[in-house]
Amino acid sequence: GLVLVLAEDQTEHRRVEAVRRDFVANISHELKTPVGALSLLAETVQDASDDPEAVRRFTDRMQTEASRLTALIQDLITLSRIQGAEPMAEPTRVDLGAVVDEALDAVRMPADANGIELVGSGAEGITVLGDEGLLGTALRNLIANAVSYSPKDTRVAVSVAVTRSTVDISVADQGIGIPQQDLERIFERFYRVDAARSRATGGTGLGLAIVKHIMTHHRGEVTVWSKEGSGSTFTLRLPRPDDRGLDAARN
Ligand code: ADP
Repeated sequence: GLVLVLAEDQTEHRRVEAVRRDFVANISHELKTPVGALSLLAETVQDASDDPEAVRRFTDRMQTEASRLTALIQDLITLSRIQGAEPMAEPTRVDLGAVVDEALDAVRMPADANGIELVGSGAEGITVLGDEGLLGTALRNLIANAVSYSPKDTRVAVSVAVTRSTVDISVADQGIGIPQQDLERIFERFYRVDAARSRATGGTGLGLAIVKHIMTHHRGEVTVWSKEGSGSTFTLRLPRPDDRGLDAARN
């Protein structure tokens, strides 16, 4: 009844508030970790200055920490630009064939290093309305996750399907999967199923939040299916650009 709905509303409101409050605390923590590591490593390098081999090892780790910091700052910038943005005013035609190819190219090195096969299908000749850069970011984030959370010798498949009213871009992996109880929270900023694993693979914890906001900005959505131990499929669902859609987009 109504009372129940209100109670649920309040709970939801309180949850959103808590998430918001946590966000600043999370950012501070996420920034402090690499900065702290960098300063420790700098000290260690100074102490080890007569051992070139050790200097090399520590400066390599400094590079890794610096990259982590750069990735985090980049993701924060992307997120702050896109979250709460109005639905796009002037979408342009985007060739999904090119977007999929570029996104796959971007992860080819880590995929090869881990014996993960990348396959793309169905994108050629398909166009959607949107922002090419943002759609590329969304797809790259999903493919990078698919590679990060998959064991060796598996496959990551990107496929595009056109339905009556939507264009669906799916990224399917044969990876570790996501526990059912975590599924609805993974799109929250900094929510991770396994924080240690996420950091080890260079994850910022912001990738899926960025994907979600990019899809909202496109009047689309992102959905997920997953089974622990067998894999995950994330789907970007965009409105299909028929002529009516084009006119609406121009108005
Ligand atoms: P991260 O930088 O930690 O990967 P994301 O926002 O991209 O942050 O993802 C949030 C969490 O969702 C990850 O930490 C991971 O636990 C889980 N996740 C995302 N994609 C996958 C996937 N393809 N397979 C298994 N787990 C995933």
